Amino acid sequence: ARGLVKRFGGRRGLFESSPTVHAVNDVSLQIRRGETFAIVGESGCGKSTLGRLLLRLIEPSEGDVLYEGQSITSLPSRDMRRLRRDLQIIFQDPFASLNPRMTVGDIVAEPIRLHGLARGAAVRARVSELLGIVGLRPEYADRYPHEFSGGQRQRIGIARALAGEPKLIIGDEPVSALDVSIQAQVINLLEDLKERFGLTLVIVAHDLAVIRHMSDRVAVMYLGEIVEMSPVDPLYEKPLHPYTQALLRAIPAPDPKDRVAPQLLQGDVPNPTDLPSGCRFHTRCPHAQPRCAQEHPALEDAGDGRLVACHFWREIGEAEPGIGVDDS
Ligand code: SF4
Ligand code: MG
Repeated sequence: ARGLVKRFGGRRGLFESSPTVHAVNDVSLQIRRGETFAIVGESGCGKSTLGRLLLRLIEPSEGDVLYEGQSITSLPSRDMRRLRRDLQIIFQDPFASLNPRMTVGDIVAEPIRLHGLARGAAVRARVSELLGIVGLRPEYADRYPHEFSGGQRQRIGIARALAGEPKLIIGDEPVSALDVSIQAQVINLLEDLKERFGLTLVIVAHDLAVIRHMSDRVAVMYLGEIVEMSPVDPLYEKPLHPYTQALLRAIPAPDPKDRVAPQLLQGDVPNPTDLPSGCRFHTRCPHAQPRCAQEHPALEDAGDGRLVACHFWREIGEAEPGIGVDDS
């Protein structure tokens, strides 16, 4: 992705006008073949919008997305249809994304038919195979989505995403609607499928807990921008951006006896119709200086494949517990 910008609204009519929502603000990133890339941030940070822009499910206001070196932003819809096989998405709410009037078999068969991958009896055989791959029984093909649990429905969504034999799958908070015990199962399934089919995964998540063990690299977003991008281990060991530090402190300890109340950032995320000047995080940052409200920090190279957008990341150094948190 190069310089992706997405604005919503902002239409001025005769009688009403809607404010412009700055959902994604100048995002550039490169996703490597075979990696698991996580995009993390609070709700409203633009991460889902970014996921949709990467697949061209929505059009950018500015910027470009390249897939295997080719711009997909200007691709005619006919050529885009071919690419749709390669690029798939799994949604947060598997129920809302599965047509309740279609059987599971028809839902999974749809991409097979659309892309002409099988005909007649072979479609049904392929559906059975796909259901088996995601850990569901073949006879489920004749049932309807409402007959299944959340975890099973997400498996159906994954079977549908696999049906076109994709190369890249974007999971938009694929487990956040599921019970914690089911989350691990679905994550394990995604990891197995990645291995088995050589997939590239992009996982959109709202906290850093879920994605730690499955990701290779992480991009942290705040108000439509990437504020830190890093290989996964150094990000957790030594987060550079004050916002990443705050997100990490908000993760509850796995052992209940070590558990302190999750520490939250001060204040709410500012409204994306009215972005703060300078560093977008300065209204909540415990390290903010006068310069931060004036000057917008660019993403800069912090070494070891890391990028950070903060004027003072060198001075701030390692996360200090308790800084920038609301103790109440
Ligand atoms: Fe905080 Fe300033 Fe760094 Fe922004 S640039 S994260 S406000 S210290
Ligand atoms: Mg979202």
